[in-house]
Amino acid sequence: MTTVNDVEMICSVCKKSSTQTIIGSSNNWGSSDLDTRPSEMLRSTIWLWIEECPHCGYVAGYIEDELKIDTDFLNSTEYMTCDGIDFKSELSERFYKLYLIERKTDDMRAFHAILHCAWACDDAHDESNSKHTRQLAVKMIDKILKSDDSGMDNLILIKADLLRRSDEFDLLIKEYEDLELDDEDSNKIIRFQVEKARQKDNGRYKFENVSGVDPNFGGMRIYI
Ligand SMILES: [Zn+2]
Repeated sequence: MTTVNDVEMICSVCKKSSTQTIIGSSNNWGSSDLDTRPSEMLRSTIWLWIEECPHCGYVAGYIEDELKIDTDFLNSTEYMTCDGIDFKSELSERFYKLYLIERKTDDMRAFHAILHCAWACDDAHDESNSKHTRQLAVKMIDKILKSDDSGMDNLILIKADLLRRSDEFDLLIKEYEDLELDDEDSNKIIRFQVEKARQKDNGRYKFENVSGVDPNFGGMRIYI
């Protein structure tokens, strides 16, 4: 089960106090989605993975953590309007703002923020933004792989799922149909993604749906 606690946090930007809800504990059972989104109960704790200061609008995993960029950015139109994107949920907006902040200093953290934003859009049935944010996540992966693609097979696999779920079927087939990675399970997942892309299937699948692959592949059994 998931337990939560309300705690008083001091924002590192404006130094004001607010009540934030944090995870006490959680667990997950069973297979993750092919984009690594965990199964329940952890899956539904996504709203606890991010905090927003109600006073200054700072968004972070923990608002007590230091903002590494100029605080003026929090007052920019880009940040305050989420680039003008009309998200259907506040949670999506928060993850998008985190993506905007992280993008200035850390590509991998920015990738995770926009991936979580896509998951929040899924939960809000915000279909157009589910696809748009996945396309942004693909761009982040491409940028990361361009600078260093060693040990990044997990990102290559997630990218295939992001492409398929944002209807980029032709691109997925082009990039993946002849791709071979070192790991047998990874190659089974790639074949699965290409087959689904040929069927123009943008649905959600789990590792357990891929025949012959360990259901816990890439799995995180996280106990916080
Ligand atoms: Zn603040």
